[in-house]
Amino acid sequence: MAHAGAEKVDRRDGLRRRIYLACLLVGIPILLSVWLTHRADDPYLAVAYPLSAASQVVVVVGLLRRTMGVRTAERIVLAGIVVTYLGGLGFGVVTAPDLAALDEQVTLSALLTVNLMPMLAYVTFDTARALQVSLAIVGAYIAIIGIRLIPEAVSGRLGGDATDYLSQMIFLLAGVGLLHVIAQVKSQAAEARLTAEAMEALANTDALTGIANRRQLHHVLEEWVGAASPDTNLAVVLLDLDHFKQINDSHGHDIGDGVLRRVARILQDVARPGDLVGRWGGEEFLVIAPATTRDDAVGLAEACRVALPAATAPTVGRITASFGVAVHHDGDTAWTLLRRADDALYTAKASGRDRVEASDAGGRELTPSRVA
Ligand code: GH3
Ligand code: MG
Ligand code: MG
Repeated sequence: MAHAGAEKVDRRDGLRRRIYLACLLVGIPILLSVWLTHRADDPYLAVAYPLSAASQVVVVVGLLRRTMGVRTAERIVLAGIVVTYLGGLGFGVVTAPDLAALDEQVTLSALLTVNLMPMLAYVTFDTARALQVSLAIVGAYIAIIGIRLIPEAVSGRLGGDATDYLSQMIFLLAGVGLLHVIAQVKSQAAEARLTAEAMEALANTDALTGIANRRQLHHVLEEWVGAASPDTNLAVVLLDLDHFKQINDSHGHDIGDGVLRRVARILQDVARPGDLVGRWGGEEFLVIAPATTRDDAVGLAEACRVALPAATAPTVGRITASFGVAVHHDGDTAWTLLRRADDALYTAKASGRDRVEASDAGGRELTPSRVA
């Protein structure tokens, strides 16, 4: 589960890395061409754009050489845009000859601020931090415009424009509010999904050994048997530790638990990729082996049987188990297949334990309580 989660994050980061590289590789030439054509008539742009382009080149190199993480790249790009833009706005506010000259810049800039910066902040930071960053950006924007507008308003020269500016600022703040609500709904949905996944994993995992529990084994076996055709090779290996009660009686329940955990690890080591190893209950384990013939299943059981004495703790005697093997036949249900494996296991116990028995096609009927 954790591994699958990490892979998902890796894939998402890889996609982000490629999107940012594409945007920056298109954006840097545009920035430079604007600089080339406008640098003569805009002294701020003449200085700020090359600096901004340089910071973006650093990010591109870092992303391409993979020396820079996606998060760092996002933060540098966001900081670059904020500094370049707010710096430009501040410069414009201070140098604008009159309010009309400022008007044009403010309208365009406001849209940019609303659309781009807080959005980027919400992509880059967690929801709470993104809200702080967005409010700081919008606050700085309002403060910069305020430098010029407040004196105008106080002296009564602002007139009807005051309402325009006010509604623009409210629009900006409402934009951040909306983004925040969307981000929170998204993160709550993601949290709910993670909780559901964790609960699902918990419901399918044996608490003592950490391997599949009876619920998952049953579910998977029913699914695989249901999907099997007459020539499908599907095998089950059911095993029961020999004289396990004596271990509990002689060494205590905790030592017995430790043995069960080690047995689970050994079975997982011996099983092949694709096999499902689980605890069927008590000191019984089940291996469900897809694409496995009867001979291969007997070989797998034999490998487990030989490996098990390694579960022996210094104080505990040699641990052995008895094994019952059964393979899928046309018309089988999970129940009939398990019943034949249990039948074979019973034979292994009766024949002296520490051995593998494989069921023939028929198998003896056993009382349901042994496999239910
Ligand atoms: P056999 O060779 O016939 O299987 O003998 P056995 O002693 O293994 O079988 P029996 O069914 O008499 O005893 C099973 C024991 O497994 C009894 C029970 O206390 C123990 N057991 C079942 N679940 C757990 C568990 O979770 N932890 C521990 N420590 N012991 C368990
Ligand atoms: Mg038992
Ligand atoms: Mg037993």
